[in-house]
Amino acid sequence: MTGLAAGPLAPAPPPWVIPRAAYVHVPFCKHKCGYCDFASLAGQDHQADRYLDALEREMADFLREPRSVDTIFVGGGTPTRLSGANLGRLMDLIGRWLVLEPGGEWTVEANPGTIDDEKAEVLAQAGVNRVSLGAQSFQPDALRVLEREHGGQDVTRALELVRPRFARWSMDLIFGVPGSTLDGWRDDLERALDLGPSHLSCYGLVYEKGTPLHRAWREGRVKELDEELERMMQETTIDRLRQAGLEMYEISNFARPGHESRHNLVYWANDAYFGFGLGAARYQGGTRSVNTRDLAAYLSRIETGRSAAGATEALEPESSARESLILMLRRTQLGVDRDDFRRRTGFDLDQLAGEVITRFAARGLLEDDGHRVRLSREGVFLADTVLRELV
Ligand code: SF4
Repeated sequence: MTGLAAGPLAPAPPPWVIPRAAYVHVPFCKHKCGYCDFASLAGQDHQADRYLDALEREMADFLREPRSVDTIFVGGGTPTRLSGANLGRLMDLIGRWLVLEPGGEWTVEANPGTIDDEKAEVLAQAGVNRVSLGAQSFQPDALRVLEREHGGQDVTRALELVRPRFARWSMDLIFGVPGSTLDGWRDDLERALDLGPSHLSCYGLVYEKGTPLHRAWREGRVKELDEELERMMQETTIDRLRQAGLEMYEISNFARPGHESRHNLVYWANDAYFGFGLGAARYQGGTRSVNTRDLAAYLSRIETGRSAAGATEALEPESSARESLILMLRRTQLGVDRDDFRRRTGFDLDQLAGEVITRFAARGLLEDDGHRVRLSREGVFLADTVLRELV
């Protein structure tokens, strides 16, 4: 026999070293919602062609060659605000640069009122296999406060397009909206469950600095909900969704087993990821950089062959390990496994945070079985306090 026997294949680098996930941002929206702090813009749809040119160039310059990934998430903004033709172009360019592994997850965010039959078909034909629908509420008053431009009936209509085409879809809801009631929130949950989701994200409203909602709150024009009422809303969410078969797997996320968002699990494991588009972040090898949120600057920088990223932030190993810890703790089922934590960060969990873990475990906010540390049910309600101390 001649020739060399093939040696064993080198093991693939782990996903916290080499990105296996990619985020692509589309900033266009019909209207800027009053609570929104995302890199999103209304009245800029005429820039869509130029934006897609820049996005393609950014991917080509950064990646150099097509890269295989396990998850792709196209978010915004409102990706489905693009015309059908431009949405098709976006899917093509993503498919050219990011090769989804068999069995991979490709999610696109859609807003009710912006998705139609043509766009749903474009997504399905491109290989998108998960849609995340930004419903936020079914209550007309809450939608008005949030300045959302759709009504509850638009959600039902959007799902008629999504359900037959995508086996997996998720819906976002927001609780704690000024003026809302527990009964109204219960009604939101029931109406969402009636639609049969396998995944729901339920976020408590945040008054983000710099938003019109924050200003209105500061000036006393809107009043935040009573803390106790907000907690009751969160408790109702956890209990009602569990009863319906959707288990909490992250502080704000609920899924049937096997329907968790694989892409978001990448963030909560502090794994590496690519990011492209306005305001997008990327993270690799403990180094993070974030693109400018200024559309004119993003376009001109990319068009002149420069990076759209701001300063690169290189985290010290200990800071990076602490960041991993608080991200992993958000995962209410997985929590932080001591062996996994050491393998990923090089740090011993108890040397890094043993005192805080013991203290919160004694207060019943953390559960520690010796291998794994997790938020307790009570810890979920006080997660901000626990996570803040661990930083
Ligand atoms: S639709 Fe979403 S991204 Fe766009 S402005 Fe409203 S909250 Fe922000």
